[in-house]
Amino acid sequence: MKNKKLKIAIYWFGSCGGCEVALVELNEKILELAEIADIVLWPVALDFKYEDLEKFKAQEIDISLINGCIANFENEQIAKMLREKSKVLIAYGSCACFGGIPGLVNLATKEEVYKIAYSETPSTINPKFTTPQQSYKADAHELELPEFYGYSRALHQVVEVDYFVPGCAPPIESTEKLLEIAKEFAAKGALPPKGTVIGSEKSVCDECEREKAEKKSISKIYRIYEKEADPKKCLLDQGIICMGPATRGGCKARCLNANQPCIGCMGALPEALDQGAKMLSALASIIGIEEEKALSEEDLKKIIDKVADPAGSFYKFSLPVGIISRKHTEKK
Ligand code: SF4
Ligand code: SF4
Repeated sequence: MKNKKLKIAIYWFGSCGGCEVALVELNEKILELAEIADIVLWPVALDFKYEDLEKFKAQEIDISLINGCIANFENEQIAKMLREKSKVLIAYGSCACFGGIPGLVNLATKEEVYKIAYSETPSTINPKFTTPQQSYKADAHELELPEFYGYSRALHQVVEVDYFVPGCAPPIESTEKLLEIAKEFAAKGALPPKGTVIGSEKSVCDECEREKAEKKSISKIYRIYEKEADPKKCLLDQGIICMGPATRGGCKARCLNANQPCIGCMGALPEALDQGAKMLSALASIIGIEEEKALSEEDLKKIIDKVADPAGSFYKFSLPVGIISRKHTEKK
């Protein structure tokens, strides 16, 4: 294995494709990757057939870099094949690591998803309510579509994952770190401990250079467009929801540098079980703290009600790996 060219596969499941673009951000460093590795599978850039993957022997691929969540049967089947064919499997990006934004589908049932997507959206005209079928006969052919599950999972909820690279998309520093890991692997066969997350052990707040109040207290919550935020001060201190306290750093607080709140894409802090619960507890500890005695439960509720779309705000990237990971319906 040492000093041999690595075989690398890059694959995407349920995602927007931004992670594929993030890889290209390596710019001229991509030449360093070309020196140590051959890309043997990359459907977004090269023609791909199932047989191309099937023909690899077990563990013949050195590294598989996978982005996107598992949302349908085909995703799951290929994830299992890639696991079998690869020595190292890496979840690249928030959708593969935690389910990501497509994971918000877990707030609905499959029937509700179809109703919204194929009937209720303003741009849809579908009087017969035609929805995707798993198979369809056309002349002499039978066409097949993979089953859509109606919920999404992170990659490690389906197959064993060796390393995690969170971020939507992962920061360039993380991709560069990954390149260094691949170089070490090619040169010495050395790898970091299994389960390593490429990111900081601290929160986004630790990387954020904004002035923070010593004692936080807010009595009103604003949506980002309702207030002209002071670019030097902590957004949370100004009443704007910022996921910084509940989110793993490693991105150098890039959204805060653009005067936008953190929306949590690096996922939960290492010690936190549930990113949304951690943020709710951070918020609960600062709302009206100075006037705690004066605030009635009703007043508190009024403040909290200002959080538009709580699930989408606190679990935008991590719902499938949260304690309550999806909507369940009783079996009849
Ligand atoms: S809450 Fe947001 S704005 Fe405030 S310090 Fe943390 S990351 Fe920065
Ligand atoms: S500031 Fe938050 S949302 Fe922005 S890149 Fe960092 S972790 Fe992601």
